Amino acid sequence: MTDATKRYVYSFQQGDGHNKMLLGGKGANLCEMTQIGLNVPPGFTITTEACLEYLGANRTLPGSVMQQVREQMAALEQMTGKGFGDAHNPLLVSVRSGAAMSMPGMMDTILNLGLNRHTLQGEIEQTGDERFAYDAYRRFIQLFGKVALDIPDELFDEPFEAIKHREGVREDVGLSAENMKEITGLFLEVVHSQTGRPFPEDPFEQLELAIKAVFNSWMGRRAIDYRREFKITPGMANGTAVNICTMVFGNRGNDSATGVAFTRNPGTGVNEFFGEYLVNAQGEDVVAGIRTPKPIARMRTEMPDLYRQLEELRGKLESHYHEIQDFEFTIEKGTLYCLQTRNGKMNTQAMVRTSVELVEEGLISREAALLRINPESLEQMLFPRLDAHAGATPIACGLPASPGAASGHVVFDADRAEQQGRTGKRIILLREETKPEDIHGFFASQAILTSRGGKTSHAAVVARGMGKPCVAGAEGIEVDVTARRAHIGDVIIKEGDLITVDGTTGNVYLGTVNTVEAEFTDELKTLLSWADQAARLKVLANADIPVDAERALKYGAMGIGLCRTERMFNASDRLPIVLEMIVADSLEQRQAALDKLLPIQRHDFIALFKTMAPNPVTVRLLDPPIHEFLPSEQQLISDLKQLRHLRDSLRGAEILSDTISLLFPNGAQGGSGLPQVIRVADSSLVDEAIDKKEAILKKVRSLFEVNPMLGHRGVRLGITYPEIYAMQIRAILEAACECHKQGVDVYPEIMVPQVCTPEELRAVRKNVDHINKQVSADFGFSPIFKFGTMIEVVRACMRAETLAKEADFFSFGTNDLTQATFSFSREDAENKFLPLYNESGILRDNPFEVLDTHGVGKLMELAIGWGRTTKPDLKIGICGEHGGHPASIRFCHGIGLSYVSCSGPRVPIARLAAAHAALLQPTA
Ligand code: ADP
Ligand code: MG
Ligand code: MG
Repeated sequence: MTDATKRYVYSFQQGDGHNKMLLGGKGANLCEMTQIGLNVPPGFTITTEACLEYLGANRTLPGSVMQQVREQMAALEQMTGKGFGDAHNPLLVSVRSGAAMSMPGMMDTILNLGLNRHTLQGEIEQTGDERFAYDAYRRFIQLFGKVALDIPDELFDEPFEAIKHREGVREDVGLSAENMKEITGLFLEVVHSQTGRPFPEDPFEQLELAIKAVFNSWMGRRAIDYRREFKITPGMANGTAVNICTMVFGNRGNDSATGVAFTRNPGTGVNEFFGEYLVNAQGEDVVAGIRTPKPIARMRTEMPDLYRQLEELRGKLESHYHEIQDFEFTIEKGTLYCLQTRNGKMNTQAMVRTSVELVEEGLISREAALLRINPESLEQMLFPRLDAHAGATPIACGLPASPGAASGHVVFDADRAEQQGRTGKRIILLREETKPEDIHGFFASQAILTSRGGKTSHAAVVARGMGKPCVAGAEGIEVDVTARRAHIGDVIIKEGDLITVDGTTGNVYLGTVNTVEAEFTDELKTLLSWADQAARLKVLANADIPVDAERALKYGAMGIGLCRTERMFNASDRLPIVLEMIVADSLEQRQAALDKLLPIQRHDFIALFKTMAPNPVTVRLLDPPIHEFLPSEQQLISDLKQLRHLRDSLRGAEILSDTISLLFPNGAQGGSGLPQVIRVADSSLVDEAIDKKEAILKKVRSLFEVNPMLGHRGVRLGITYPEIYAMQIRAILEAACECHKQGVDVYPEIMVPQVCTPEELRAVRKNVDHINKQVSADFGFSPIFKFGTMIEVVRACMRAETLAKEADFFSFGTNDLTQATFSFSREDAENKFLPLYNESGILRDNPFEVLDTHGVGKLMELAIGWGRTTKPDLKIGICGEHGGHPASIRFCHGIGLSYVSCSGPRVPIARLAAAHAALLQPTA
């Protein structure tokens, strides 16, 4: 499909500076810079289309490419007054790769092309510098040999080093003209013996081989790996262009130099010139690290006039590109040339700072400032991270389950974590996996580490909700709870040992590794306030306790979209009462336990509502199956065995403190004053404990479910035990009245989980109406509240039209809805077949991480449509973990949700993502 008239080559004066797909990033910018009058050495670009056609035609160049190259070379000769292959005044060029996406160092570039035995003499004649000419020649032979002729670098490096050694010099600059001449001779021999023929002398043959070599490097191993790693698709970059550029020399003496610079500091974003340069050196020397470059500021005194020109170039680049630039320059005998520019890669802190400052300087709009930053990258600023300079080696690696890094002493169970945490010690909770009853251990710990489970395991979900670092499923770690130690290969970690956990990478380190604290900078606050103005979606947080709510507020949450009440039940002072409630044999017993829970829950809600006032707080009624609050059967059996053994053999004897916790579960009598050893006067205490454990064991067995996720949970509990929901509803409404009495207006929203029929919702609503009447009468005030349902069951989506009659709002619980839509049990899917599904492309993403818009999303769209048929302005949100992920947020914006709710620390990411969604899909 090659076409004799097709254009494959554009001079820097002709090429379209915006067409990076065709000319590559480097080529497009060389054209652009040339056309705005910056001093770029003349040259031209061969298109990426030529590359693709070449690779597709068994590595043959399209027929007219070399013809078009010859025409451009003739034009270069005209412009420079030099001749390609001319023995008196030779034209030398570089042949440079450059794709649409920057892939630094992944493809090849050849410098000083055009040199041969004859043009070398011309170069000497022109410069009067024999050493310089031979230096350029030997560089060319080596680069060309390596890139175009596939000769291993070492074959050149070895003789080169040998001569340096013989001459007793460390740097190339110490070598004489004679040395360079000798090296050149040796290099030519290397080429001859490796290829079986002399070094190609014809400059056009050199040029053609070089062009092909650069095209080939697109399919080189390095480049392919890089594209895979950074997910560069053909839609983003397809093939490399080749740039042929007249050589300029930074190694022509002390009035010559070469360097790289950023228009602002890429580490901090500060508006200061940043870069390095070397006097009397060629470009590659700076990057290769052969000599130590000087900071750019030194140039102000060393070459004041050129420094001024460089500052001017810096200003022109920024004001033209409206973006921080990373550029290469060379000074040849006092003349400054710009050889490359591209948008500067910066860390997030610098991105945020420059975004705000570029707006203030009038260089970009607020919209552009927002779109410049990838929402996900904000994570870097919101969590503490390991000091990059610490250079520690990990001893184990698991899944990066919740970002951030922390160090602390290892503890193997939640009770100990709580005890030791209270003394102010920094704790890392290390467990095989965690369960809901470990929650107090989470509160006490800096970070969580598990040896089993995925990114959506209990540990991961809870840690993310709390904003604590978590590494999950670090399978190399073997945990032995009874011996209170863990093995990682030969390494043994004992209780109390210091470790460091990096939930951003999944790495685990022995000892303390320095961390860098997160900073919520003023610039970030400014940027996010712009984001809120641009966004349509509101961003709420999932938070269960006041400290989480406070943090969410600091992050800019506009309310709480999900408060999981079961988290309140799990705290160690409540669990015994919750146990009482569950083990109760009669309604009376259960009511007695609930009566004790009521004031506690009311108190919790008052604190939470006040913290968030006047923003809404959505409280979800009890959701998990109640057996989740009970210890495991296995645990109970082992406890009972121990207790019976104790009764039989240790009557009246000393009991070790380890066993005390069995007698006084949940530290009811424990605390810091616990004696190491106590004397038991009689065994009645032990008998009592045995009775209690046996009762719990009986309950555990009777509550056993084959599929707890699909079992007796959510609103089903509310229907079978209406008194449990009644207690929670009363606590919410009384808390609202209490706040009002104290002069704080609060807006609770009651949310029912797992609803699948309108009748279920109606039943709970009746309960709510009834209690509301009583509470209003008691307080002489009618609390303002909303009543709504989660939509997390497929049937609820199908019944949305009718459900909307009973509900003031919908909230999609996309974790359960995903599970229900796929019929995948989350843990099993992630541990067993999902990785293969993802690798083989059967499923592109893990649907528990990335919202499945085609399936789950389709159901959401249907439900929204039907729900709003009943109530056109129905408030609809999402409170699954997807609510914090930019791609899912974009989708939620598109289907018309009113809000997203996500874990507190992800709120800033969600705010920015919501702004992106609105800016990129303004009509949705
Ligand atoms: P990369 O993409 O790996 O940076 P480049 O094509 O930019 O590769 O070139 C490598 C080095 O050679 C850079 O330091 C560049 O500045 C320098 N260089 C490239 N072309 C020329 C030229 N025509 N004159 C002088 N130096 C050049
Ligand atoms: Mg470069
Ligand atoms: Mg759910």
